[in-house]
Amino acid sequence: MRKKYVDSHIHLNDYSEDRIHDLCSRDNIELITVSEDLRSSLINLSLEKKCPNVKAAVGIHPWNADKVVLDELIKVMELVSSVSFVGEVGLDKRFTPETFDLQLKIFGDLVSQASSGKKALLIHAAGAWREVLEILSRSPVEVAVFHWYTGPLEYLKDIRELGYFIGVNVSLLKQPKMREVVKQAPLDIMLTESDGPYEYRGLRLEPDLIPVLIDEIAVIKKVSSEEVLTVIYNNYLNLLNRVLK
Ligand SMILES: [Zn+2]
Repeated sequence: MRKKYVDSHIHLNDYSEDRIHDLCSRDNIELITVSEDLRSSLINLSLEKKCPNVKAAVGIHPWNADKVVLDELIKVMELVSSVSFVGEVGLDKRFTPETFDLQLKIFGDLVSQASSGKKALLIHAAGAWREVLEILSRSPVEVAVFHWYTGPLEYLKDIRELGYFIGVNVSLLKQPKMREVVKQAPLDIMLTESDGPYEYRGLRLEPDLIPVLIDEIAVIKKVSSEEVLTVIYNNYLNLLNRVLK
């Protein structure tokens, strides 16, 4: 079986048309593109139709909790019921604590809507790792990816027991905490991701960095890059198997 790179969290709709065309025409990488609101959800769904290597998630980003109107929330909820991937959704107490109550309401609605079928949730949980983990563990949601996981190391065990995954971001090249998470986490819960186009400490987070990330994970875990590539691609296939009928 030919293995591919995986970018489990990218905002494809935020790229230029040329760059989207370039990323969509690659046959060595699989992309899950996440959305922040109704508009990006619709764009990403249309990209999924055009690009064989793209899966689209729909959702409302916690940073948009105070911007979304009821009509938009209802429309996104309708989309949620018809797709297999929901994100970027979650809670954020670190960057937007002032809207936390609104975030809780919207995330609660999205989780209960997603609970009606086999769906994977792509989770944003900056500063709210425990809150999101508690909500999900009480819900019927079976598949979730904790995007850019830099939460407490003691939750890694719970994440694994619940059958969830963590997103290892290419920020690892600059972020000691990401490196520490990789050191402690088992390979079988890891997916790789860019969160592109985004910049972190002067580093442009791009899917092109994923091969370098694989090499770095291999060094940290003291295994070959080939093995990391294989395990992460298998984790991705496992995720797909659990959500696609
Ligand atoms: Zn993101």
